[in-house]
Amino acid sequence: MFGIWHLILHLCLPLDRPGGLGIDLRPRTAAGPMEDFSAMLPIAEIYPLLKQPRRVVIIMHQKPDADAMGSTLGLSLFLRKLGHQTTVISPTNWAEWLKWMPGAGAVMDYEFAPGKAQAVLDQAEWVFCLDFNTLTRTRHMANALRKLPVPKILVDHHQQPETPVFAYGISNTEKSSTSEMVYDLIVESGHKALIDIDIAACLYAGVMTDTGSFRFSGATAGVHRMVAVLKDTGLNHTQIFENLFDNFLENRLRFMGFVLQNRMEVFYEYNAALIAIPWKDLVRYEIKTGDTEGLVNYPLSIQGIKMAALIIDRDEEVKCSFRSKGDFDVNTFARNYFDGGGHFNAAGGRSTDTLEVTVQRFINALSENSSQLQ
Ligand code: 5GP
Ligand code: MN
Repeated sequence: MFGIWHLILHLCLPLDRPGGLGIDLRPRTAAGPMEDFSAMLPIAEIYPLLKQPRRVVIIMHQKPDADAMGSTLGLSLFLRKLGHQTTVISPTNWAEWLKWMPGAGAVMDYEFAPGKAQAVLDQAEWVFCLDFNTLTRTRHMANALRKLPVPKILVDHHQQPETPVFAYGISNTEKSSTSEMVYDLIVESGHKALIDIDIAACLYAGVMTDTGSFRFSGATAGVHRMVAVLKDTGLNHTQIFENLFDNFLENRLRFMGFVLQNRMEVFYEYNAALIAIPWKDLVRYEIKTGDTEGLVNYPLSIQGIKMAALIIDRDEEVKCSFRSKGDFDVNTFARNYFDGGGHFNAAGGRSTDTLEVTVQRFINALSENSSQLQ
C-alpha cells in the first residue's frame, strides 16, 4: 500500500504550484551581478524568421503552473497558425485543472515517456524555453537540452537567467508573466490579428494567475490593455477563473484546514511563519499535483507577517517555497540557503536533508536575516 502511494506521490507532487504564485512578481532590484545578456540575441531577431515553417518544440519548467502551461500552449497555437509544426513538452506531469486549456491534451510528459519526447526533441529545429531561465528547472530533461545542437529561444520573467544557453531570447523581470511576453511577441512580430479565443484563453490564464488575479503591481495598464484585446475574442473569464480555482476535491480543502491548524508555526520575532508538512500528511489526504497551490500565501494574511515559507517532505527531496511582502528578497534567500531562486517576492528551493533538519536550517536562516525582516 505504502509502495503504491509512494509512486503516486512521486509522480504527482508539485514543485511549482499551478494557479499562480499569489505574490507580487515585480522586481525590487536592478539586474543582478550574474546577469550577462551578451550571448543571447534579442527576440526581435527571430521575427523575420517566423515566415519559414519549422519543427518547433516548446518547453516549460517542471510541475508547470498556469503561466507555464498557458504561455507554451498560447505560443504553440500561434505558431501553428503561421504553418509551423509544434510540440509542447513538460518535464513532468501537471495538475488536473490545467487540462481544460486548448491543446493541453497533446502536451507530452518527458518524465512519463522520455523516449517519445526525446524523439521529438531530436527532430526539432527550434526549441522555445518558456517561464524558466536555467536548464536545471527542467529536471531530467536538462542534460538532453544542453546537448541539443539547435537554437534555444528564451521567453521568461525570472531573475538571473542562464543566458549563454540561449541563442535568442528575452528576459524581462518587469513583466507580469510569461503569457504577457508571448502576447508581446505576437503583437510585435505583426500578428495581433491571429489572436483567437483559444490563444486568448491560454494567455489569460497565465497573466491572471501570475498577477494574483490582477492584484499585484505587475498588473500594469499594459496588462489591462492586453486583457481588453483578449476579451474582444469572446473570452469567458469567469469560466477560466472557475476552471483554475474552483476545481479541487474535498480532500484538498480538508488538508488545508488540517495543516493550517497543526503544521503552522509563527515566528513573531522575525515577522515570519512556516508551514512544514511531513510525508504522512500527504499520504493521509491523498495529495496530488496542484493540491498545495496557494497554501504558502495564507500566513501572509496574518498582521505584520512579511515572509512565509512552506516546506514539504517529498520522496526524493524536501521542497521549499518562499513568499514575502515588501522589501524582503526571497530570491536571494532561496539562492543562499536552499539551492533555489525565482522572483523578489516569490521563490522556491530544495533540500536534501530531512524535514526536521531543513526546518532547523530555515529557523537559523531566519535568525541570520533577522534585521532585514524587521
Ligand atoms: P513555487 O514556490 O511556487 O514553487 O515557486 C515560486 C517561484 O520560484 C516560481 O517563479 C518558480 O519558478 C521559482 N522557483 C521555484 N523553485 C525554484 C528552484 O528550485 N530554482 C529556481 N531558480 N526557481 C525556483
Ligand atoms: Mn510565470
